[in-house]
Amino acid sequence: MPAAPRRPRLAAAAIEASAAPYLVPAQYATSAAIGSDGAESPILDDKESPTEKDKATRVKYGELVILGYNGFLPPGDRGRKRSKYVLYKRHDPNGVKRSKHYVVKTPHNSQAILDSQQHSISYTLSRNQAIIVEYMPDEETDMFQIGRSSESPIDFVVVDTVAGEKTGDSGKVVQSTISRFACRILAERANPSVARIYAAGFDSSRNIFLGEKATKWQEGRDIDGLTTNGILLMHPQGSFCGGDSEPGVWREVSVCGGIYSLRESRSAQKKGRAVSTLHVEEVTNVLQDGTLIDLCGATLLWRSAEGLEKSPTKDYLENLVDKLNAGRPVCPVGLNTLVIPRKSSYTGPDGSADKQQPYVYLNCGHVQGSHDWGHEKNSHSRTCPLCHKVGPVQKLCMGIEPAFYVDAGPPIFFAFNPCGHMATEKTVKYWASVMIPHGTNAFESFCPFCATPLEGFPGYIRLIFQDNVD
Ligand SMILES: [Zn+2]
Ligand SMILES: [Zn+2]
Repeated sequence: MPAAPRRPRLAAAAIEASAAPYLVPAQYATSAAIGSDGAESPILDDKESPTEKDKATRVKYGELVILGYNGFLPPGDRGRKRSKYVLYKRHDPNGVKRSKHYVVKTPHNSQAILDSQQHSISYTLSRNQAIIVEYMPDEETDMFQIGRSSESPIDFVVVDTVAGEKTGDSGKVVQSTISRFACRILAERANPSVARIYAAGFDSSRNIFLGEKATKWQEGRDIDGLTTNGILLMHPQGSFCGGDSEPGVWREVSVCGGIYSLRESRSAQKKGRAVSTLHVEEVTNVLQDGTLIDLCGATLLWRSAEGLEKSPTKDYLENLVDKLNAGRPVCPVGLNTLVIPRKSSYTGPDGSADKQQPYVYLNCGHVQGSHDWGHEKNSHSRTCPLCHKVGPVQKLCMGIEPAFYVDAGPPIFFAFNPCGHMATEKTVKYWASVMIPHGTNAFESFCPFCATPLEGFPGYIRLIFQDNVD
């Protein structure tokens, strides 16, 4: 195929004028004289962090909440690294949409890649052939990017979640599996209930590179691909808030927002089948209230602004704890009053627990204080003094992150086994039924408050308190 004549670099206005998507691919000659990486990180002007006053008046699209943090990221929620991220309508739109594409020989030297103001996605087909898709500003959408990188294009920095109690030392993750630029969300400014998710995010030079090994395919004139570990989605069936929804099927979302069945393993070369050809029901990349987004290493919950309005608030949940404590539950052995903590409770320097800290016997649900009755030596098991069932015992702690609640009550509490996080019955039962990707091939249900995999069947227990009869 003869090389086409070199095309002049298009000015921004010209790009806009020739914005018909998918022009016939033109050979785009590149100059070897241009340095391989002259791009500087652009300064993004849309990193506004709203003041409290702002928040009340601004349009909210929704919230992304990382599973496994009970409303708090140790050592503290700071900047773009926190346990949840609220997506507000931006002052100025920063969305992008596809404009045109063409074939190049060396993507790293091509004009769209070198231009750090030009958003583009490069699909490498072979050592000397790549397709570049240029993106142009879209006044109708706001873009939010999520990933492990702390570079400026990432709005919400997410690192791998370690199961269990969070103490603030993040040295446990040996090798991260979360992509630095994992995914992007585009929300419609005129219709804030519509937010779409796409795999991969633009880097500091506003590029996305899908290398030679990445899964990609061409259908007609469209090219699309998957990222290495992929972005998996699960839309709940039915309304998340109300307590009657059921988990849906996990799917994979592509770089262009297509929905596919899961690959044989997480990073397999062969993509899954297009879901629209498999099922009658429409499955899209539009986030629903309760959609789970798995980044491979951390899982995010999407709560729509509409859904959150129907959810219990943190004040409401704290009130539930206060009411329970006002009933002055007692330990049947020590007869001392127990106090349910809202946060993970204090353990003294000598390992001694607070006398008021309640414990749950995970096989029967009886709630008691700390005592040695029924404790077998060299065993984690204890005999419950009330019913004589033998099993593990765990500290109780309130699940205080409201976004994870699927209903607001009634105040009958259940706790997850083995971590002891308490929540409403429907909330605990819902999460126990959700299988979440774990590692490269496995799925398991875990506690949304601390990400500890559930044990035994059904993975939770109804709590039985001894009311103070005095
Ligand atoms: Zn018991
Ligand atoms: Zn837990």
